[in-house]
Amino acid sequence: MFNLILFGPPGSGKGTQSDYIVEKYGLIHLSTGNLLREEIAQETPLGIEAKNFMDNGQLVPDEVVIGMVDSYFDKHEDAKGFLFDGFPRTVAQAEALDKLLDLKKTQIAAVLALDVSEEELIKRLLNRGKTSGRSDDTNEEVIRKRFSVYTNETKPVAEHYKKADKFLSIKGEGTVDEIFESICKEIDKRI
Ligand code: ADP
Repeated sequence: MFNLILFGPPGSGKGTQSDYIVEKYGLIHLSTGNLLREEIAQETPLGIEAKNFMDNGQLVPDEVVIGMVDSYFDKHEDAKGFLFDGFPRTVAQAEALDKLLDLKKTQIAAVLALDVSEEELIKRLLNRGKTSGRSDDTNEEVIRKRFSVYTNETKPVAEHYKKADKFLSIKGEGTVDEIFESICKEIDKRI
C-alpha cells in the first residue's frame, strides 16, 4: 500500500488537489469532512452528533472520527493505498492512525502540507461559502474559530510527522495546476 496524508488549514485546497491525486495515482480518497457531511445528509445518529460541532467550527470528538476511519478502511481492504484528507487533525488521531496502519502492516509514505497565508485562506473560504452550501464557510466568526482550532489542535500533528521525517511543505498558492505539479514531484520521488 502507498498511503499519503494531505495536510493544511481549512481552505488550503486539500479537497481540490485530492481529486487530482486519487485519479492519477489510483488511491482511495478518505476525507473525514466528506464522510461527516454524508452522515449529516443521511441524518444518522453520528451525523446528528457531529453537526453541532461542525457548525460551530469545533472538531468532532476523536473517538467518533477514529471509528469512522476504521470502518471506512475495512470497507476498502484491497485498496492500493489511501489519501487521507482532513485526517488526522489531532495528535490522538495521528497516534490512532499509526496503530491502525501498523495492524494492517502498512505505513504513511509522506505528509504533504499545503502552505497558504491566512489572508488568502479567509478569502477562499468566504468565496466557497457563496456556492458550496456549507454553513461553516459563510460566517467569518466560524472561520476564525476553525483557524484557532487548527493552530491549537492540528498544527501539533505536523510535529508528530516531522519527528518521523515524513513531513513535506508545499507552496499552496498559485494555479491549481502549478500546485498539483509540485505535489506530483514529491509523490513521484517516493512511490
Ligand atoms: P476544512 O478543512 O475546509 O475545514 P473539512 O471538510 O475537512 O473542511 O472539515 C469540516 C469540519 O468537519 C471541521 O471543521 C470539523 O468540524 C469536522 N472534521 C473534519 N475532519 C475532522 C477530523 N479529522 N476530526 C475532527 N473533526 C473533523
